[in-house]
Amino acid sequence: MKCKSVHNKLIFFLEKELPVSEMEQVQKHLDECSECARFTAEMKNTLQILDNDKVNDENPFFYTRVKERIAKQAEEQPAVRPVLVRILQPVAFSILLLLGVYGGFKLGQAPKANIAGSGFTEQEVIPYWNELEAEPIEAFLMK
Ligand SMILES: [Zn+2]
Repeated sequence: MKCKSVHNKLIFFLEKELPVSEMEQVQKHLDECSECARFTAEMKNTLQILDNDKVNDENPFFYTRVKERIAKQAEEQPAVRPVLVRILQPVAFSILLLLGVYGGFKLGQAPKANIAGSGFTEQEVIPYWNELEAEPIEAFLMK
């Protein structure tokens, strides 16, 4: 197995989502190739940091507040846009969560850079915020 294909499979290897034969192939390569073993260790660390960040930090609170707000909104207008809400909720949760996690990492940088860096343009993000009638992300990050 080549280094490049090991790198491509690494995230699945770390999540133990590869077929057993491929898990063994990757493991064998890591035993023989110190370069890839080092890269694997780094990636493992990064994944652990991301996992911890999901559990700790201010994000559960952030998530709960947004969730309550959406639930409240859905209660108030149950018949108006149920389908739209059902579609938007998971999408909006993911984006808010991503922004929250990303904001936690990049705190201190300009808000604009946060939005650009997270892979969404401002135009894509803002309609979701309006939809949720949420506070601007800066307000969350300031607290
Ligand atoms: Zn290698």
